[in-house]
Amino acid sequence: MKLIYTNENRFIVNNIKNIIQNAGIELFIKNEYISGAAGDLSPFDTWLELWVTQDSDYDKAIKLISSINHTNTSHDWFCTQCHEKNDASFEFCWQCLNEKQN
Ligand SMILES: [Zn+2]
Repeated sequence: MKLIYTNENRFIVNNIKNIIQNAGIELFIKNEYISGAAGDLSPFDTWLELWVTQDSDYDKAIKLISSINHTNTSHDWFCTQCHEKNDASFEFCWQCLNEKQN
């Protein structure tokens, strides 16, 4: 098992999880149910973590994540409701869940 990605934003982590799963890579989320105890932990301890089950999938997963980030730099969009910047892969604003407008 190897850690491939972590972020404080659960919506982003879940998006990346879906993309990697769609590529046929087996992975799981760590810290998914820990938020209820967040008061006792430092914020970083409550970040969601994505782990690949097979170490051999690690390189492929990292490449996928970097390709997502690379693609996004030219296709970011801004929410019409809260003006938050969103990644191109998102169909909804990660902050207010407003639907993407084309
Ligand atoms: Zn928004």
